[in-house]
Amino acid sequence: PDPTLRPEPREEDGSAGALRPETLDDFTGQAEARANLKVFIESARRRGQAMDHTLFHGPPGLGKTTLAQIMARELGVGFRMTSGPVLARAGDLAAILTNLEPRDVLFIDEIHRMNPVVEEVLYPAMEDFALDLVIGEGPAARSVRIELQPFTLVGATTRLGLLQTPLRDRFGIPTRLEFYSVEELHRITLRGARLLDIACDEDGAREIAARSRGTPRIAGRLLRRVVDFALVEGDGRITKPIADGALTRLGVDSLGLDGADRRYLSLIAEAYQGGPVGVETLSAALSESRDAIEEVIEPYLLQQGLIQRTPRGRVLAQRAWSHLGMAAPDRLSD
Ligand code: ADP
Repeated sequence: PDPTLRPEPREEDGSAGALRPETLDDFTGQAEARANLKVFIESARRRGQAMDHTLFHGPPGLGKTTLAQIMARELGVGFRMTSGPVLARAGDLAAILTNLEPRDVLFIDEIHRMNPVVEEVLYPAMEDFALDLVIGEGPAARSVRIELQPFTLVGATTRLGLLQTPLRDRFGIPTRLEFYSVEELHRITLRGARLLDIACDEDGAREIAARSRGTPRIAGRLLRRVVDFALVEGDGRITKPIADGALTRLGVDSLGLDGADRRYLSLIAEAYQGGPVGVETLSAALSESRDAIEEVIEPYLLQQGLIQRTPRGRVLAQRAWSHLGMAAPDRLSD
């Protein structure tokens, strides 16, 4: 599938032209999370202490990294970033922790993919701001404790269920991020067009917003592609017809589903009469990893009421049959 349409990070997210909001007030959507963070940030500032450890969970591209950066900025502290898979050995994490300045924000992306040995180092660090190091081997081995500067750990995960309970319990502020409404994505798209210095009709922005899979990262990517079409095939202005034509050519349908989403739905409809069918079976038939199906494809289809998860597997909902232009088998209509 076209990587433009997938919510995983890519180079351009971090590049100079990034559309990342830099303050909480500039951040659209996630009203509940934003209101709470505002209070916790202000409280930590007044107390002059490190803010409590914070865990962001939710599908990719919803703003977990962005919020972590905003926290550091609004707390007036440094920001360090790493990720679970990158921290191969305990020493890698220890090196980062011992180099933190007081009250810094340490962001660990994909924290559910951290090596358990590294995770052990994190527990005393989070709880007591200390490292327990074992020096020497065998009977001569002894443990020494190294004090760390107080810091704020911000973890991000797309799979809360894969987090070990002791790790999860050490976050004082667990925060779930939700898919964005079309209204919110509309505002995000108009803001993006302003930053990219391109004229954009309300209707044109709404077309992009409605087809962004509830995800700001996808809205940003689609916006850039629509800009290309507006410049080359239009008069440089994003209108509804330009946006519609561009998105259709990119394979994004009226609900914002891409080729991979439609292949998933069609497979269940055509090969399994609407299910139930297990995720392993779908993974094999689609040649997609189980993780990609569970983290990227399914959350949006579930949120849109296109599929249901049952103990026996995935089942197509009526809305999916309508969207595919197919009739549901009789047994579903009674
Ligand atoms: P995550 O860490 O959840 O995968 P990111 O924080 O990297 O997501 O956000 C992905 C992209 O979406 C970033 O380029 C950012 O500019 C944009 N983005 C995320 N949330 C918002 C928002 N609320 N408003 C505007 N842009 C956003």
